[in-house]
Amino acid sequence: MSNKKRILILPGDGIGPEVSFVAYQLLLLLDKKFSLGLEISEGLLGGIAYEETGDPFPKETLDKAKESDAILLGAVGGPKWDQLPADKRPEKGLLGIRSEFDFFANLRPAILSKELVSASTLKEEKVADLNLLIVRELTGGIYFGEPRGRVEGSDEALNTMRYSKHEVIRIGKVAFESARKRSGKLCSVDKANVLEVSAFWREVISDLAKEYPDVELSHMLVDNAAMQLVREPKQFDVIVTGNLFGDILSDIAAMLTGSIGMLPSASLNDTKKGLYEPVHGSAPDISGKDLANPLASILSVAMMMRYTFDEEEVASTIEHSVESVLASGKRTQDIAKEEDTTIGTKEMGQEVLSKIELR
Ligand code: NAD
Repeated sequence: MSNKKRILILPGDGIGPEVSFVAYQLLLLLDKKFSLGLEISEGLLGGIAYEETGDPFPKETLDKAKESDAILLGAVGGPKWDQLPADKRPEKGLLGIRSEFDFFANLRPAILSKELVSASTLKEEKVADLNLLIVRELTGGIYFGEPRGRVEGSDEALNTMRYSKHEVIRIGKVAFESARKRSGKLCSVDKANVLEVSAFWREVISDLAKEYPDVELSHMLVDNAAMQLVREPKQFDVIVTGNLFGDILSDIAAMLTGSIGMLPSASLNDTKKGLYEPVHGSAPDISGKDLANPLASILSVAMMMRYTFDEEEVASTIEHSVESVLASGKRTQDIAKEEDTTIGTKEMGQEVLSKIELR
């Protein structure tokens, strides 16, 4: 990695540009305050890229991404492009960039701010102080396995869930190491009672556990895990699972924290290069209205500082500033209660920036 910290911003579609602009302003401020040496560029991905170039993941974006250490994505997609063939759709851009750089480890923290306990759909005592991390395998499993598609000459279609030992070990290591830095508890989720690929996953994770005697490993079937996440979510600290199960479980965990507009994510490869993005999508229903919550994007910048650049102090400054804005009662509409006055995307961004300036 060069001395410069090279960041590529891909605002994408819908509310993506609105929340990415806030993140951009945040990066400029951090650069000044902490002398980070950031070099920031911008590129096209998703529907907007298709509109301008005919390709949701243009070569120019790929080249810029190759030259960057970290990528910050807004969101892609929208009804305008829903009828396009699969290889032109905005999601193709997202899946393309994930697999191009082998971003196999998706980290999704679900942390409930103590200021937002009442925004959760669960009872306060069930979710207060919730802080869990889902480590989802992102470039393998049923989303990528071959063969796939319509079976020629028949009225059948298929997908294949497939994992190699190498794929399970590398995601397992990320999870064990994350657990080691946290409470030392790791739960591996699979469907080993029915699926051979899951029985294999369990075997490989259990073997790997011998290298991490300080981490307490448990296994859980995915149907039970879905139930336990809403029954007693605080029993979990770090969860590791495959692509499909992780997709579903991380959305359940997201809702425990009140709003999808609060949740950041990181997708990493072996070189620490990372793709950072809010968990939410392009929210066409609120796009262009200054209604989007930019905190997921802001917290994604915090994850970038922590995981790609090892700037723990910068990361926690961002997180504490978000917490203190929430403590001051400022809310975007998605996290507001009826009696709250709400603020828009830009104002929420400014609030966080001014707290950072004061630190
Ligand atoms: P969504 O996350 O965009 O929206 C779901 C609901 O949450 C909507 O009511 C929306 O208004 C609300 N919401 C989302 N983000 C918010 C924010 N920051 N602040 C306040 N409210 C917010 O999911 P969807 O409606 O299922 O999908 C819309 C489009 O986004 C689709 O085209 C989908 O393919 C795409 N999508 C993209 C990504 C991504 O880019 N990573 C992820 C999921 C969905």
